[in-house]
Amino acid sequence: MNITSSVFVKGVTKTSDPIFSDGLIQIGFVGRSNVGKSSIINSLVKRKNLVKVGKKPGKTTEINFFKINDLFYLVDLPGYGYAKVTIAMKNKIKEMIYSYVTHEIFTPLCVVVVLDIKAGVTDLDREMIHILREQNQRYVVLVNKTDKLNQKEVSEKIRNIEKDTLTNDVFTYSALTKKGTFVNFFENVLTKEI
Ligand code: GDP
Repeated sequence: MNITSSVFVKGVTKTSDPIFSDGLIQIGFVGRSNVGKSSIINSLVKRKNLVKVGKKPGKTTEINFFKINDLFYLVDLPGYGYAKVTIAMKNKIKEMIYSYVTHEIFTPLCVVVVLDIKAGVTDLDREMIHILREQNQRYVVLVNKTDKLNQKEVSEKIRNIEKDTLTNDVFTYSALTKKGTFVNFFENVLTKEI
């Protein structure tokens, strides 16, 4: 899909209702802070700074909605797992993400759980995936930063991640090179659903 427009529409901060929906489909991105979510969204829409990269980890408790081609939204959820934040902040982040993926009326088309290939799967990622499965929420796993390892290491890591997460839809990606199996998935899901 040729991306012709990408616009920041809304940042939601309230824990009471962190849902913004105008009927267009949404693809949400979750993951540990620093895993590369902002870089991934920027690379997918071919913008350098639509989403601010390298935000202070754990400081953002906003869910940000970016409208693409006036057709769908990419949604950047707050990053979890950063050690140096207060318990209150951790809980707020958790609550925001939880409300987004468990809303009783609204359902994102797909949630992309982003992992760092070197860090692999952490307990918080497992918890996230558990919630998504429990909710019957469609999700895929995107393993980012594959540029950091060679092909053989990448294949081995992916096999382990598939086993660990009990997920068939595990895709590779590098926001740096913009290459990986996630590119095809993204194109296909958009062509099919829009
Ligand atoms: P976020 O906290 O998940 O939104 O992560 P950011 O997008 O802010 O990225 C965190 C850091 O990882 C930044 O320094 C990025 O430049 C770097 N980064 C993101 N994606 C990649 C990637 O695919 N490869 C490499 N080598 N670095 C990346």
